[in-house]
Order: sequence, then structure tokens, then C-alpha cells
Amino acid sequence: MKRRDFVSKLGLGTVAGAGLLAACGEKTTQQDKSGKDFKTEYQWKMVTTWPKDFPGLGTGANTLARLIGEMSGGRIMVKVYGAKELVPAFEIFDAVSGGTAEMGHGASYYWKGKSEAAQFFAAVPFGLTAQEMNSWLYYGGGMELWHEVYEPFGLVPAAAGNTGVQMGGWFNREINSLADLQGLKMRIPGLGGEVLKRAGGTPVSLPGGEIFTSLQSGAIDATEWVGPYNDLAFGLYKAAKHYYYPGWHEPGTTLEAFVSKKAFDALPEDLQSIVMSACRIANQDMLAEYTARNNQALYTLVNEHQVDLRRFPDEVLDKLRSLSDTVVAEVADKDPLSRKVYESYKQFRDQVIDWHEVSERAYLNARG
Ligand code: CA
Repeated sequence: MKRRDFVSKLGLGTVAGAGLLAACGEKTTQQDKSGKDFKTEYQWKMVTTWPKDFPGLGTGANTLARLIGEMSGGRIMVKVYGAKELVPAFEIFDAVSGGTAEMGHGASYYWKGKSEAAQFFAAVPFGLTAQEMNSWLYYGGGMELWHEVYEPFGLVPAAAGNTGVQMGGWFNREINSLADLQGLKMRIPGLGGEVLKRAGGTPVSLPGGEIFTSLQSGAIDATEWVGPYNDLAFGLYKAAKHYYYPGWHEPGTTLEAFVSKKAFDALPEDLQSIVMSACRIANQDMLAEYTARNNQALYTLVNEHQVDLRRFPDEVLDKLRSLSDTVVAEVADKDPLSRKVYESYKQFRDQVIDWHEVSERAYLNARG
């Protein structure tokens, strides 16, 4: 929506509106405290790690851009670019840091090459759920640490989406014991991949677009992706028989938005608040969408496509959990900032586990 349309929806004609502003005096109505004016219109580019309009993730980035435009009455218009449209997926961090675009949308674990600590703001194996991530970030000191990690790159971060608990993945053989993980070639990125490796498997890194054919041809034995909504759209049920849960490696992945600090600082205060508030809305909205659509898609996979839904055996989950503790703790040894983030995350996790034992888990068990 253009600013003019927004003003006319409020019933203020352009001429009458301008007269009103002029009558009130320039300083109080056209500038904020720091002297930045309310009239400048900003055209921003948002680069993303997702294919354009990719369900859930790409559409979540679109939602964020739309919200910023609407909430600002058109004073910031954000154009969204899918992966490769302006820069390749894994170059968006540098693109915004370097000023090629004002804003990015991705997942912080992609930037572990920039800072190992970044991984804690997306997902770690056997870590926080979506609800717990938001609590840590907004009320547990996580957001302040995230700012500290991105500050050297000239970026202002925000949580801007969450997938909820992901699925364990698609397997073309049964996983009945630890022995079945030996030599298992699985597409699973990041810390989860490292855990699988220590359990005897072979983690493979593949972009989304190559997963289906690799699984179908037998180049890999298994893959994780996201959850029923995205996995159904990819047709993964046609390439592997067994669908395992839970997604121990990604228990509530936070998606991020980041803004160039230079572009952010140039905004008047009301627009800064609007950008951050829009991220907060987008963060909640994506989780609500995933929860609704995953639940529909799981029903379709099981009832229409006769997918074999299985829980990982306890023996396997127990081993993966203890290996994860080691792998995640090793991140803390990489540098002092990673240790600081790890300690904050771990302390929050240990405490919230106690609370959720008597609240969320007790209730879900009682509900049956
Ligand atoms: Ca995943």
C-alpha cells in the first residue's frame, strides 16, 4: 500500500493532511527527538536464504515485508528477493553486512563460519522448543546476546519465525537399534550432523532442491527436511518408506531477520519500533501457520499416502542425547563469546525443563 492510499483511508486528503501538519509546526510533527523526519520514504531490499515464495519460510519473509509496509503506512517498502535472485542463499549475511541490501531473512546456524555462537539462536540438538526459545530470547537474556554476536558485522538481529519441532526424517530402512545407524548416509546439516557422525553415521550436506533425487536414487539412505507441511510438498514420501519422529536435532528452529545497523539507525524512532514489532508478529505468525499446516499434512501423509510413521527407539534417542550434550558443549570451547552464549542457553534450558516437566509435559500426558 502506498502512503497516499493509507492517508486517504484515514480520511485525510493529501492537501488537508499537509495543511494540518504545517499548521501544527514543523518541529513537533515532522521530526522525531533526534531530528529524523517522518516524511522520508524508504525502499529496502530483503534478501533471503529461501527459494522465492517457499511455503512457510519464504512466505514468512513475505509476511514480514508486507507487515512493515502496512504498519508504516507505506513509509518503508520492502522488496523480497528469493535465494539467487540478488545474491546466493548463503551470501545474504555478507550482502546485508556490506550494504548490498538493507535486510535479510534466514536462520542463524548458517553463519557458524562467522561466529560459532550464532548456532544457539536457531536450533541445537535436544535444545529449546519454540516456546522456550521465545522465552529465552525475549525474557531470558538471549536477545541481548544475539545483538552482541551480530554487532561486529553491523547487523541488528530479530527472531522472525519458528517451525516448531521438526520431524526426525525419512529413512529407506528401519531404525530399530544403534546398529542401524552404522554407515547410515543421511542428509542432516549442522550440529545434528556431527552428532549422527559420532553415532556411526555419515552426515551429508545437500541443498533442499537435491534432496528428493538423492533419496530416490539411493545416493543417501535418509534425510531430514522440516516437517509434514514442507515434506509433503517435496514429495519425500515417494522416495522413502519410513517417517521417523521426533526431530531431536531441530526442536524449535528460530528463523531470523537482520537489518543493516546503518539502515536501521537512519530510521526515525517510530519506524525502528515498527520494524522490530513486525518481526515479533512474524515470529509468532509462522509458528501458528506451521502448527496448523503440519497437523493437516501429517493426516494426509498417513491416511492418503500410507506413510509408515515411527518413533525412534529409546536406545537410539538416549545415545543421540548424550552425544548431543558433548557436541553442543564443545561449541563453548571455540571462543569466549560462544562460551557466554552457551552458558546462558544451558542455564535457561536446565531451569525451563523443570518447569515444563510439571506444566507442558504433565498436561500433555494427562490429556492423553
Ligand atoms: Ca531441518
